[in-house]
Amino acid sequence: MELKTPVREVSKAYTMYAKRLEKLGIKTLEDFLYHVPSRYEDFSIISSIANIQAGETVTVKGEVLEIKNQRTRNWKTLQKARMKDRTGELDIIWFNQPFLLNLMKEEDKISVSGKADIYRNKLLLQSPEYEILLNYKDETIHTGRLVPIYPETRGISSKWLRRQVNKIISDCRHKLFEYLPYSIISDNQMLGFPKAIKEIHFPKNLDLAEKARLRLSFDELFLMQIGALSRRKEWKQNLAGNPFKIDLYQDKIDKFYAKLPFVLTNAQKRTLREIFADIASTKPMNRLLQGDVGSGKTVVSAITMYVAFLNGFQSVLLAPTEILAQQHYDTISKLLSPFDVKVGLVTGSTRKRIMNKESGIKIKNETNHNSQFVIHDSKDKTDILVGTHALLYDKRSMDKLGLVVIDEQQRFGVEQRAIIRKKGKNPHLLSMTATPIPRTIALTMYGDLDLSFLDEMPKGRRKTKTWLVPAEKRKNAYLWIEKQIKNTKMQAFIICPFIEESETLKTVRAATKEYELLKNTVFPNLKLGILHGRLKAKEKEEVLKKFKDRKLDILVATPVVEVGIDIPNANIILIEEAERFGLAQLHQLRGRVGRSDAQAYCLLFTQSKNPKTVERLKAMETLSLGNELAQLDLKLRGHGELYGTMQHGQPLLKIASFSDFALIEKAKKEAEKIFPKLDAYPLLLAKILSAKNKTISPD
Ligand code: ADP
Ligand code: MG
Repeated sequence: MELKTPVREVSKAYTMYAKRLEKLGIKTLEDFLYHVPSRYEDFSIISSIANIQAGETVTVKGEVLEIKNQRTRNWKTLQKARMKDRTGELDIIWFNQPFLLNLMKEEDKISVSGKADIYRNKLLLQSPEYEILLNYKDETIHTGRLVPIYPETRGISSKWLRRQVNKIISDCRHKLFEYLPYSIISDNQMLGFPKAIKEIHFPKNLDLAEKARLRLSFDELFLMQIGALSRRKEWKQNLAGNPFKIDLYQDKIDKFYAKLPFVLTNAQKRTLREIFADIASTKPMNRLLQGDVGSGKTVVSAITMYVAFLNGFQSVLLAPTEILAQQHYDTISKLLSPFDVKVGLVTGSTRKRIMNKESGIKIKNETNHNSQFVIHDSKDKTDILVGTHALLYDKRSMDKLGLVVIDEQQRFGVEQRAIIRKKGKNPHLLSMTATPIPRTIALTMYGDLDLSFLDEMPKGRRKTKTWLVPAEKRKNAYLWIEKQIKNTKMQAFIICPFIEESETLKTVRAATKEYELLKNTVFPNLKLGILHGRLKAKEKEEVLKKFKDRKLDILVATPVVEVGIDIPNANIILIEEAERFGLAQLHQLRGRVGRSDAQAYCLLFTQSKNPKTVERLKAMETLSLGNELAQLDLKLRGHGELYGTMQHGQPLLKIASFSDFALIEKAKKEAEKIFPKLDAYPLLLAKILSAKNKTISPD
């Protein structure tokens, strides 16, 4: 068996599990090894029966005397067993596991681990972990040691995972070899790789488990770093880009600035200088622009696209959702149409269509996927194409494509980003994100990118007043909202409870119910609309337009759809079940308001009375910067969900933690020490190649 064997090809039995395993990020046999325990159950105290103390968690080894099924009154079953060792006898019961009778028979040697209780004056093990032994000396994996507990998913238990991991480690032990240069291991006093794999799953003690985790975390960060360094080198060496002229068009660019309804912030100006330097060069730009919600990234991209246009190139602006694409299309058209730039929109809704503001053409096309770029082919050429991933799947390439802008880049997968880049001849690439990533981490994650930080908010913005509202104040809060809306004509978002990661029918139903309740009983005198992921594109557009045109007072929305929406008159946001979100996510949600110079408000609702949760949420009342909140989130919840599902719904880091700055720094330093002289380390090279399809960077 090769480590790279995909799970579904291992055996028939495995095929059944493949889908579920994928949820855990396990696609190949090797992935099992990197699916590391979240904790260990300590079953390492092995006791003879006579020495067991009530209340103690122990492991007992001995022989089965008898085992039988018993029905309980409520149609359930009990499995009663009795075992013995040289010192005595012990009773065991399990609940509802009738199959146990097929597994263990009288005279079988077993090892059981669990907490000893006293029941009717006799010692008893209740529902202990168990395994059947051929020999008392055999190495155990479920009992009698530190036993790994894994992240599980429906139908995949820790016990099952343990068995697979154990088998893979012993079957493939000759395929696990050290690949790091010896100097790195000795300088950092790390465990060897095969030992680290063994000890992270089946550690002799917690100290070794920790050392194993350190070694594997280091490897993860180190390989990420090396990957980034080599992509960066490749990019700089091999690609010939299209240098744009800037000075030549300075007058026109200045005229554009003059027409903006605001002055650019210093951070926007600095970022534009960095971008201009990139696009004027013969190498294609590969820059990531990170800016807090509301920091004004869109206009920066608009200016860049305008420069591309002045140089005779087309641009593509890619957004993660149709709503955002639509909004960008409106914004960009408004900004650039006065300068003769033609902007088009492509989305992936069931009805494919293209709109062109200039010509007013609106082409409906029910079936033919390929005719999306009609306008581009006709005389009426589009200079900027705004769209969702639907843009990716058009067969035609845009020969004059000079710039690709990816908004909310963390929402796009690696492949998607690769496809869009190949659409022209090495177009400049500008990725944008509002995910507040501390700088050190950004440098590691995106080591191959140049980074710009929009670390300044437009002038006149006020801090959004934020309150954590306890359950008993809900009614008052509703009254207050109604009063605000009536008095000031401001609008409000109400974010429905977060139910599932992806928006399923369950979420939609809950949202719809909430909407009905709010509309009919809470705010019967106000106009409400609802927005969720299962609406048709057209319906989404309509409800958003109504909200934008102030024909609705309140927009009830699920958490999945909100990202990036810009509605300056909406100044209240109410978030239900706030405790379910990370601080960074709450910050993103809160960023939907406070986008003008009016005072904005954020109300966080929670039922939780857990002091830790309350304290965490209270931080929202005082902290207003995404970066601060992200740092705090890291501290309070580890790397948690913030970076958790950035790519493909799989965690970016499986073992290492983004909160471990020291290790991140160390991995970076070691990578830079040996890069690019990798030829001296063939085993490392092989490892890098095999890890390559798992890279996380935008190309
Ligand atoms: P984000 O960075 O979250 O994508 P947007 O680009 O949507 O933010 O900008 C948020 C709002 O701020 C928009 O309404 C935009 O017109 C406005 N804006 C952008 N730059 C400035 C600025 N320098 N001064 C004032 N308002 C600005
Ligand atoms: Mg944005």
